[in-house]
Amino acid sequence: MLRAVLALGGQGVVDAVFWSGLLVGGVVGRFGDQARSWPLFRQLTGGDRWGRGSAVISPATRRLTARTAEADEVTRSVCPFCAVGCGQRIYSRDGRVTHIEGDPDSPISRGRLCPRGSSSLSLVTSPTRLDRVRYRRPGGADWEDLDLDTAMDMIADRMIESRARTWQDTDDEGRHLRRTLGFAHLGGATLDNEENYLLKKLYTALGAVQVENQARI
Ligand code: SF4
Repeated sequence: MLRAVLALGGQGVVDAVFWSGLLVGGVVGRFGDQARSWPLFRQLTGGDRWGRGSAVISPATRRLTARTAEADEVTRSVCPFCAVGCGQRIYSRDGRVTHIEGDPDSPISRGRLCPRGSSSLSLVTSPTRLDRVRYRRPGGADWEDLDLDTAMDMIADRMIESRARTWQDTDDEGRHLRRTLGFAHLGGATLDNEENYLLKKLYTALGAVQVENQARI
């Protein structure tokens, strides 16, 4: 409104300011404190004549603070979604993650996250996120919980047994094979270069031929 008033120029401005003063006085007289809380009142009576700053900030907005400001810890990490490996800053309060955003210090992403990476908070805090090992035994109709050590031992036992049972030392003509087709490895996009390197070393050393990753850059 004030902008429109100033655009009138000359006598128009004087008239407009006069009538605005009367209007403000009348409104305040009639509505009291309620009128003082209106943005227009603050704009006409305060220092923010253009209505771009303090005049148009509501008390509710004034009470808001960024989640980053309330965090008691900031941890640097890497986005878990794909092999680009964008840097993240993870804000937490009282041991709970409250916000995740791009890390400006990352030479890879320089503070940026794609929409998927930006949704990392919901990945971490979703109530549907599985945070324990679930197991459905052969022939079973229901899933059951397993502790991690038990699950890891079961996987290791199965790999050792499969490797021994399916080991191919030579082919029909006596040529060396030294391999197993009894198991394979398919990595996920969340694996970084170092993890993929170690996995490739491990599975090749075990004699596996099919060692793959589902992601490609
Ligand atoms: S999912 Fe997006 S933010 Fe995450 S590492 Fe890949 S490109 Fe970066």
